[in-house]
Amino acid sequence: MAETAYELAKQRLGPCGVHCGKCFAFAGGDICTLSSQLVDSLGNFEVYARRFAELMGEPVFLKYPDFREFLGYLAAAECGGCREEKCKLFKGCKVRSCSEGKKVDFCFQCGKFPCGNTGFDEHLYKRHVEINNRMREIGVEAYYEEVKDRPRY
Ligand code: SF4
Ligand code: SF4
Repeated sequence: MAETAYELAKQRLGPCGVHCGKCFAFAGGDICTLSSQLVDSLGNFEVYARRFAELMGEPVFLKYPDFREFLGYLAAAECGGCREEKCKLFKGCKVRSCSEGKKVDFCFQCGKFPCGNTGFDEHLYKRHVEINNRMREIGVEAYYEEVKDRPRY
C-alpha cells in the first residue's frame, strides 16, 4: 500500500516535532549521505594535503586530518530516527515514551500540550512548542513540506 504523506512525515518527524531526517546522526539523511560522497571523492587526499600545504604555502591544508576524521564520523551515522530507536542526542527525552502511552503521534495532539514532562532543556523545549504549534496550525503534512529541505541547525 502506498505510504501516505502523513505517514512519511511521521517517519521523519519525532513526536516532539524535531526533524530526524536532517539530523547529523540520521542514517541515510542528507548530512550522512553527502559526507559519505565527499569521503569517496576525497580518496587519498591526506597525502596531497601535506603537499599542498607546502607547495601552496597554505597551512589550512594541515587541518585536513581532523576534517577527515569528522567527515568519517558524519558518514557513519546510524540512527534510524526517533520512531525506531532511542534518541542519541537528547538522552533525557521523555516525549517518545509519553506519546506512546498517550497514543498520540505528536505532542500537539495531546490534551496536556504544552506540558512540563518533556525532559528537554530550555532551548529544545521552546523549539518543540513552536514546532507543535505550527503543526497544529497548518497540519502535519504541510509542516513537513515546509521543513523537509531546510537545514535543521
Ligand atoms: S532520534 Fe535523535 S539522534 Fe536519532 S535522528 Fe532523531 S534527533 Fe537524531
Ligand atoms: S504529556 Fe507532554 S510529552 Fe506527553 S504526549 Fe502530552 S504533550 Fe507530549
